[in-house]
Amino acid sequence: MRGVGLDVIASRIRDASDVFLFTHEFADGDALGSMVALTLYLQAMGKRVHAFVPGKIQSVYQFLATDELLNTMSAAQATVHISVAKVTCISVDAADIDRLGEWKPLFLSGVERLVIDHHDTNAGFGEVFAVDGSASSCCEILFDLFNIINPRLIDTRIASALYTGLVADTGSFQYANTKALSLMHGAQLIELGASPDEISRSIYESKPYGSLRLMAASVVASRLMYGGQVVVSYVTRNMLADSGALDEDTEGITDELRRIADTKAVVLFKEASDGSIKVSLRGKYGFDVKRIATAFGGGGHLLAAGCTITSELSKAEERILAELDRYLGPSRI
Ligand code: 5GP
Ligand code: MN
Repeated sequence: MRGVGLDVIASRIRDASDVFLFTHEFADGDALGSMVALTLYLQAMGKRVHAFVPGKIQSVYQFLATDELLNTMSAAQATVHISVAKVTCISVDAADIDRLGEWKPLFLSGVERLVIDHHDTNAGFGEVFAVDGSASSCCEILFDLFNIINPRLIDTRIASALYTGLVADTGSFQYANTKALSLMHGAQLIELGASPDEISRSIYESKPYGSLRLMAASVVASRLMYGGQVVVSYVTRNMLADSGALDEDTEGITDELRRIADTKAVVLFKEASDGSIKVSLRGKYGFDVKRIATAFGGGGHLLAAGCTITSELSKAEERILAELDRYLGPSRI
């Protein structure tokens, strides 16, 4: 753990009465699981809590009651509230402050700014931060935190939200970040009421049809490069329109591409609505993709990282490939 221990975060939370929660844009299962779990837990502690997720929330996570619990206060209301009340701001699962998207200024307005995260690349923004790069997910850290504060407040809904983050970030306990402790935490969360089959069905078997069509299009559009060591693919605005998928429905495409035998890395270029290119990187066999994302101001983990490049797709691709050349040699065929 870098920064402070969870006991310090716990005491700051005990002292707070109004809390605003924040997470990263393109929020995934760990980000949304963390936001929902923390919202419910803080409500159980008797705090006034509001959660702010940048952009749109993927419909696949509606089973966590994201519609009822998250983004319930408007930006205007939040700005007024934070100017009159002492609000403690907490960021979860966000590797740097820019990832809070449109909510960054609100986070900065808090009287206190706490950061809880599991990204190695998190330099520790906020005045008090707890970053544990060895934790599989932010939800695992929150589970420890809740056990420090008061384990009796962890009900079935909170356990389910935490389990969701654990499953999402470990790829159902398959990735290299799955530790013995992750499975022990998973087991404890099941004992507290999380249902593995319901949660798996909700995450992996409740996708909008358009997102599956988009995944198929992205597989068809993929190319093997560097002698099959890298698979590169795309999600363009045209592909989104043709498949009927939404921007927030691209989760899972990298998982599909990483199934290919002998590839060391997956690179997915996604054309955002503002024209910038969101790059998702995945490594296999220990191939470090974090260093590639970091070279473009992004970050993440050794085997799962990302960055945003503001240029047209072909130029963004050329820049990423030039970086890959450094590690894989100049032959891209
Ligand atoms: P994804 O490809 O699923 O969007 O992200 C993979 C991992 O990289 C996640 O842990 C995510 O938080 C991190 N990541 C993705 N994009 C960025 C970025 O632009 N900046 C930073 N610092 N981390 C990112
Ligand atoms: Mn995470």
